[in-house]
Amino acid sequence: MLSYSPDSDSCLDAAPRVGDRVTGLRPPTDEALRRPALQVTLFDRHLREDVARLFQLMDRLGTSALAAPQAGLDLAIAAVSCHGVRVAVVNPVLYDVVAGVNISWETCLSAPGRWLVARATGVVVTGRDERGRRRHLAVDGLPARCLQHAVDHVRGRLPVDRAITSSRPPSKSS
Ligand SMILES: [Zn+2]
Repeated sequence: MLSYSPDSDSCLDAAPRVGDRVTGLRPPTDEALRRPALQVTLFDRHLREDVARLFQLMDRLGTSALAAPQAGLDLAIAAVSCHGVRVAVVNPVLYDVVAGVNISWETCLSAPGRWLVARATGVVVTGRDERGRRRHLAVDGLPARCLQHAVDHVRGRLPVDRAITSSRPPSKSS
């Protein structure tokens, strides 16, 4: 099943409300955003602090999806806070659930503009939590889209890699 909802903005990682220098985010031009993140092998206090920092950053920026590489941390951590799903998955492995495809607009903290992207409507993700415990969860709807977006960042992929089309923001006059 294919649903098409070009008018519904998924409000993924929405534009930061503060300047890049104080967001703690890598600028969109940073080549590190294009590298696959490193697998986490040490589940210690520092990792738990990193995950807590990711959620703080998401809350501060009002974003629904964030991956550690976007926040300057080259580790495989994908975080989602969306429609009651608030989860960080360490070393995520994503499986598409063959439930259908949804095409919708996405925005991204690491890529200016809007991107029309087709995503599976439901996914299963496995990995670990910040304490090293196994995670296995199935999500659908917008949280599934957010999770796919965040896991893409862990793999060094951006919405432009998947976009059917895009719209750029108007250029600033100053
Ligand atoms: Zn993004």
